Amino acid sequence: MGTKEDLRRIINRIDGRGYKAYKDIKGDYDFGPYRLVIDHVQGDPFAAPSRVRVRLPMERTGFPHDLWDKRVRRIAFCDYLARQFHRAIRRWSKGHRGMGKSGLIDIDVGGQEILERNAVLIDGTDLEVRFVVGLPAAGRTILGREALGIFFEEIPQVVNGSLFYRSIDQAGVRRHVDVAEDQEVMRDLLEEKGLVSFVAEGSVLPRRSGVDDRPLEAGAIPLRPPFELEVEMELPHRGRIKGMGIPKGVTLIAGGGFHGKSTLLTAIERGVYNHIPGDGREYVVTNRAAVKIRAEDGRRIEKVNISPFINNLPFGKDTVRFSTDNASGSTSQAANIMEALEVGAQVLMIDEDTSATNFMVRDERMQELVVKEKEPITPFVDKVRKLYADLGVSTILVMGGSGDYFEVADTVIMMDSYQPLCVTQQAKEIATKHASRRKDEGGDAFGEVTSRRPLSASFDPSRGKREVKIDAKGLRTILYGTTSIDLSYLEQLVDMSQTRAIGLMIHYYSEKYLHRSRSLREGMELVMRDVEQWGLDCLLPYKVGNLAMPRIFEVAGAINRMRSLKVE
Ligand code: ADP
Ligand code: MG
Repeated sequence: MGTKEDLRRIINRIDGRGYKAYKDIKGDYDFGPYRLVIDHVQGDPFAAPSRVRVRLPMERTGFPHDLWDKRVRRIAFCDYLARQFHRAIRRWSKGHRGMGKSGLIDIDVGGQEILERNAVLIDGTDLEVRFVVGLPAAGRTILGREALGIFFEEIPQVVNGSLFYRSIDQAGVRRHVDVAEDQEVMRDLLEEKGLVSFVAEGSVLPRRSGVDDRPLEAGAIPLRPPFELEVEMELPHRGRIKGMGIPKGVTLIAGGGFHGKSTLLTAIERGVYNHIPGDGREYVVTNRAAVKIRAEDGRRIEKVNISPFINNLPFGKDTVRFSTDNASGSTSQAANIMEALEVGAQVLMIDEDTSATNFMVRDERMQELVVKEKEPITPFVDKVRKLYADLGVSTILVMGGSGDYFEVADTVIMMDSYQPLCVTQQAKEIATKHASRRKDEGGDAFGEVTSRRPLSASFDPSRGKREVKIDAKGLRTILYGTTSIDLSYLEQLVDMSQTRAIGLMIHYYSEKYLHRSRSLREGMELVMRDVEQWGLDCLLPYKVGNLAMPRIFEVAGAINRMRSLKVE
């Protein structure tokens, strides 16, 4: 390890030289309270910025041990520090100056969710913070004085202002960690209370806009649980909390247009993740294996058994091993369900807004006009109960447009001016009064969920001269070799750093766990186990700080959407 004076000397020496001379600052320097590690130096001012780490003994930071003594607390604690570091950058960094990324300092932080990420880690007894620096240049000429300012003034101030217990909001960090732990406990309590989701009293569900996930500021109506669905939980930090419990089984969310149905469902979907205090949904939790399902016409499907829903296609097309390069609304929705079940979904969440109508319902008149033999689709209404009876998979469904679901629902919630009412009783009475004469087309059983074994030829990560080239382009696209994977319809993917991790996890899977005798699910579970055990770092031979943990459903979902996927 060098001293900080060594770094100062090198920078003074290369001042005014060509950009490539920056390579000399790569290394490990003792800055007194912390170590500065420059891992990778960018080749030019426009390239991805240089990767830098700061390490210091946890003991020196002064943070009480109980803030990071459990996995969930450690994740939340590191999440908080990344946010503090980010704020300190905004306060102390002089920001962009010069060409390209010159002068930029940045750290990967989360949005409303608290995810496991590798920007801030506790590694043994050390705290490690990973961030990037755009090494400053004018044209391609090194600006040594600016670089000295970054390493000797700005970064020390940022570190000092964010990584020590004495310098941050102590109640704030504790609250962040406690709230995350409470959410984890709530999620564990769901099972014993027979619930799939819990929405606490007072939760604020609406967001600022479709592109701004922060809570609506003005005029948001906090949730009031209907007494029929009221449930209490005892939490380690917050204590007793009351809310609306959504039981296992089939739950229908009905109500007039614009009364808050989709807003409620979206909050439930996001309840698979922990949220930051102040989000409004920090006491909304959902079963970890809950998957949003929607129609996705145009997607590719590779040998998925969609026969529980689709049979007798024209020209005898196979639906037990159904493949297409251009799925219809209904076949895509059927495949999305079967693929989710294949990797272990326990709850399906469906919104009529994003569903194929002919997949959801088929009324008695249509049954008479288009006889069963001429209709390949068995509508979801005829399968939803069997899904629960045979496989134990619950469904939460937003449906304002058809009362055909009254018969099959265990619980009916009506959204009325943004408030949920429990109307199960009325719905059942109406179903009896106006008995539907439609025929159940669902057969005796749900049908089989067939597991598949991907072939290694599906996964070619090479592009041009590079043997492995995998990038995320925004939140919703992965470039895997020359294959572009479109994740636009994986609605529970929330963070671009998850997208990056998914690309790498696909590669890790194909290198390590893809085997002729192993199903997609078995392989994926091994990948998830490794990443949970060894951390996101096991995905790359060098250290980066911009990965966040995805769920198995989104990783498998990405594989299922690869246009190159081939299964046995
Ligand atoms: P629906 O699916 O029933 O048609 P949405 O969930 O799309 O209705 O909600 C309609 C509008 O109402 C949205 O703009 C949403 O942000 C807003 N909204 C939903 N819930 C609330 C609430 N609790 N307080 C204030 N506004 C809300
Ligand atoms: Mg809606």
